[in-house]
Amino acid sequence: MASEGVARGPGRLGVVHVHSGWSHDGKDTLEALHDLSRGRGIRFVGLTDHAEDFTEARFREYQAACQKASSEHVQLIAGLEYRFAGLKGLHLLALGMAAWMNPATPAEFIAEARRVARFTIAAHPILYRHELPEVVEQGIDAIEIWNASYNTRWLPDPRAIELLKRVQAKRPEVTGIAGLDQHDAKNDRETRVLLLKADESLDPLAELKAGRYVNLGRTMELGASEAMSPTALGMLHLVRWGFDGVERTQDKLTRLLRGDPR
Ligand SMILES: [Zn+2]
Ligand SMILES: [Zn+2]
Repeated sequence: MASEGVARGPGRLGVVHVHSGWSHDGKDTLEALHDLSRGRGIRFVGLTDHAEDFTEARFREYQAACQKASSEHVQLIAGLEYRFAGLKGLHLLALGMAAWMNPATPAEFIAEARRVARFTIAAHPILYRHELPEVVEQGIDAIEIWNASYNTRWLPDPRAIELLKRVQAKRPEVTGIAGLDQHDAKNDRETRVLLLKADESLDPLAELKAGRYVNLGRTMELGASEAMSPTALGMLHLVRWGFDGVERTQDKLTRLLRGDPR
């Protein structure tokens, strides 16, 4: 599980769950994302801008803009993050969208994404009590077991890994993926996906869908369908608990020093 950091070869390095300035809360132009990614050795970016910021016409402009900002060095792949009325925190990512879709429910998302998207992810299960609606469990391609924004850059989410195990018991092809949930590329939280095959002609999303990748982060490397032992999971729970405690204490201290007594 140990790794020497995020730079590792061979294979092809990418990132997923990235917001650009096309999202209301995203900072980066597609061009800036391209250039920063190139500097970091990232070959493809799985964009997931907020669907609620789009119409069909704007999505078409976005697709064209992604294509225009891509180069032989970095591929910017158009995709969207969907939320659903009455289901706060349940966000589903559709990567590599060939056409616009506007699903109102998770069931519609799963059905439409099958036609339109090349890879789907259930984002940050921590915001949804680590449970997924049955229809999502039956149709999703991957679960975000490490969201570098909500789970920090340091460690994956043990409860999301347990959720993945439950889903894999019925659908072994479902994988666990590390997403950045990045809104500002200056703050690189350093989770990456590494395609196992370096072959340039291969479609990165097809490789992800086939599970031919590993997740890389600052502290650890995690296979796409790595069956973490109960012991390793127990450790992760424990370390997470202590680590989150340290973060909470730091937050409290920072607020105290700022004179903000929340
Ligand atoms: Zn989200
Ligand atoms: Zn997001």
